[in-house]
Amino acid sequence: MHSKFNFSAGPAALPQPVLKRAQAELLDWNGQGTSVMEVSHRGKPFMAVAEKAERDLRDIMHIPDNYKVLFLQGGGRGQFFSVPMNLAQRGDLSQHLVSGQWSQIAVAEAEKYMSAEVVAKTQTRDNMLWVPNQEHWDINPEAAYFHYCPNETVDGIEINWVPKSQDVPIVADMSSNILSKAIDVSDYGIIYAGAQKNIGPSGLAVVIIRDDLLGFARKDTPAVFDYQQQVNNDSMYNTPPTFSWYLAGLVFEWLKEQGGVQAIEKINTQKAKLLYSCIDASDFYGNKIDPSNRSKMNVTFQLADSSLDSLFLEKAEEAGLVALKGHRFVGGMRASIYNAMPLEGVEALVSFMQEFERTNA
Ligand code: PMP
Repeated sequence: MHSKFNFSAGPAALPQPVLKRAQAELLDWNGQGTSVMEVSHRGKPFMAVAEKAERDLRDIMHIPDNYKVLFLQGGGRGQFFSVPMNLAQRGDLSQHLVSGQWSQIAVAEAEKYMSAEVVAKTQTRDNMLWVPNQEHWDINPEAAYFHYCPNETVDGIEINWVPKSQDVPIVADMSSNILSKAIDVSDYGIIYAGAQKNIGPSGLAVVIIRDDLLGFARKDTPAVFDYQQQVNNDSMYNTPPTFSWYLAGLVFEWLKEQGGVQAIEKINTQKAKLLYSCIDASDFYGNKIDPSNRSKMNVTFQLADSSLDSLFLEKAEEAGLVALKGHRFVGGMRASIYNAMPLEGVEALVSFMQEFERTNA
């Protein structure tokens, strides 16, 4: 049973069964008489955890054999510089689609190492934020890579198509929608994600990289962030964040038990539909994202009368619905409904919103 429903954008709610299992195993993990945090990363017991986590992730995402999977430190932003540093020897031009804050910051980091070119940006169309599709822009075939963020966590903008880039490798920051739906990994050169939404604790980053993109790092790339070095050392060039890796493994096991990404995608679709329908059903609430770009993970909405914002948040909290305040850059509300948010959480939020409207309209 949930005592509260946590709509935090990240670090975000983790599945309750995962937390319970971690709790049960905390003091005596795997019959070791210690916690998983206190054993060598190179010992057999932890190596088994590390390998199983990778195997399960490969299973869940159908990751082809010609891709390596890394469990690294530095979160999502750590990849904003790791990507350009690791691909720099392929050429000094990177191409970017900017659909929000995160993909914009990725450009600023890439600019330190490459000529980073923005090919397109989110536009306002009929008063809604919309990501221009590829009829409106091109990727330079000379580019070392093309970077975009399929789900922008702050505005709640999701891109539901994969850019066509001919031979230019596509790099996707999937921090906030990885594992939320079925994707074809082979569409991408690199997929990366900070863990703190659909994977596990913050600080960890999962990187999925196609073999042929290894070996292009700048000479001054720090070894810890050098993909090839980390591949050569099974992500253990330095001591990995073992507890986070273990917890990610528990989340992957949980996701498999739920029926994998196909099953969770159905529930995610149902959750998002329910919430957007509630927002659309009245003028009391509004959403500024073009319907084709509405995120299924981060649902942003505004109260038509923003002077009610703090009352809304206060009453929501009283009802056990927490962390609904929108990002400080955009204001309003944001309900992050990642995989771990059960349908009942969204139903509770919708009931609350309807009731709040009845009493305050
Ligand atoms: N990319 C996206 C899409 C994000 O949502 C975030 C964080 N919320 C980041 C990157 C940055 O991640 P981190 O804070 O782990 O560096």
